Order: sequence, then C-alpha cells, then structure tokens
Amino acid sequence: MNTPQLFSLEAIASIATPFKQKFAIPRQPNLANAQGVITFKEGFNDINMLKGIENYSHLWLLFIFHQNIERGWKNTVKAPRLGGNSTMGVLASRSTHRPNGIGMSVVKNKGVVSSNGQTKLVVEGVDLVNGTPLIDIKPYIAYADSVPSASDNLDSIKPIPNRDVLFSETIQQTLAEIEKKHRDFSALVTAVLSQDPRPAYKQKLDNDDKTYRVTLYDIDVGFQITDAVVKVTDLVHLG
Ligand code: SAH
Repeated sequence: MNTPQLFSLEAIASIATPFKQKFAIPRQPNLANAQGVITFKEGFNDINMLKGIENYSHLWLLFIFHQNIERGWKNTVKAPRLGGNSTMGVLASRSTHRPNGIGMSVVKNKGVVSSNGQTKLVVEGVDLVNGTPLIDIKPYIAYADSVPSASDNLDSIKPIPNRDVLFSETIQQTLAEIEKKHRDFSALVTAVLSQDPRPAYKQKLDNDDKTYRVTLYDIDVGFQITDAVVKVTDLVHLG
C-alpha cells in the first residue's frame, strides 16, 4: 500500500494573546509571562477532550505560523542568534519560515474554563501572535521531554539581550490606568522590551535616536534605547 504524501490538517482552536503583531514577540516561549486564552472551534469544543489535563503543569502547543505561510520557505535562514548575517539550515533552526509552517511551544497550564457551552484553556508564557491557529495540544512530560544534558552551542555566541527597562515619569499615571485592566502590563512590557526587540544589527547600539513602537493588548507602546537602557516614552490607548 502506498503511504499518503499529502495530509490535511484542521485548526482545532485559536489562541488570543497580547501580541498584535510579530515584532517584539519573544523568540521562544516563557521568556515573558504573557497569557494566552485558547478557544476551541466547533467540532472540538468538547471538554471531554481535555479530561485529565489538570495533571500537567506544562503543555505543548502545536500551531501554524499562519502569518508567514504565504511567504514560503528557503533551505537556509538568517539566524538572529548569529547576529542576523550568518545563515543556518531551516531544519537546524526554529525559523517561522518552514516547509510545513508548524510551530511548537511549551507553555504553563493555567487551567480550563467553561462557560455558556464554550470551552477555553488558559496558558502562560506564549510566544504566539494573537489569533494563531492551533492544530494540537499535548501534555509536556518532563521525564521524556526534558533533557538536562542537552547542549546548544549557539548559547555562547549571542545570548539573548537583557536590558533594564524604565518607564518615563510622564507616563506613570497612564500606566496605572492601564494596569486596572491588564494587571500584568508593566511586567509584560518589561519582559518583552528587556530582550531588545530591535533588529539584530541595531542591538549593538546603546544609544539609538529612533523611537520604536509595539502594540501589546490594545496599547501602542513607544520606546527608545538611551545609555544602554530601554526607556518607555509613551503609551497610547488604541480606540
Ligand atoms: N516556539 C516556537 C516559535 C519560535 S519563533 C517554535 O520554536 O516553533 C517565535 C516567533 O514566531 C515570534 O517571535 C513571532 O514573531 C513568530 N510568530 C508567532 N506566531 C506567529 C504566527 N502565527 N505566524 C507567524 N509568525 C509567528
């Protein structure tokens, strides 16, 4: 019998996250404590499918890099951790431009909520764009999935930046207002910006005239890098 070479996949759920665009999303999960709420689609909106999931502190999310799918893929990709100029094989990378566009992230399991017949699963530590389609969820099983002796020789080449993040005096009041709605807002901004989301060739600059912008939830965040520190200069509520 011939093995099929073409498989069709159906999204079982989609995830709501604070990240409205790809820019500034952490390069891997758990680098920021961002929350995600998974809503199951018709046909998969069945709480029995999640029976026993509370036994696991962490879960694997398998998803589609849906915002990149149309751009296709190449055999090699620029590796941000090599400064953005050297290339690596696509299969030797966690690039989002891959033959089948499948992503995988380990996240914290914050539990199932069900109301009015809609099942939701709350997770924390996501690195996914708002609205990303999920194709599968599995428990993270430490005895098999965790390999403490694993080596990653790129670690010594370019560690992920860890800059201090300050909020301007002038925005303290706005920040307090925002935190009434998004309790984790300053922690999230700090976690996202401490990694210096600028393009790799800019990350060397400890002073940069440009003001960068990133939208988290419904807030447009403006920031600059001055004297090696990330300074949040303005917060604009998007209507
Ligand atoms: N942990 C995953 C993702 C790593 S890449 C894996 O290893 O497979 C993480 C980057 O994916 C983020 O910085 C973000 O820019 C990008 N990303 C997240 N969701 C996406 C989506 N739905 N479509 C395209 N890119 C996405």
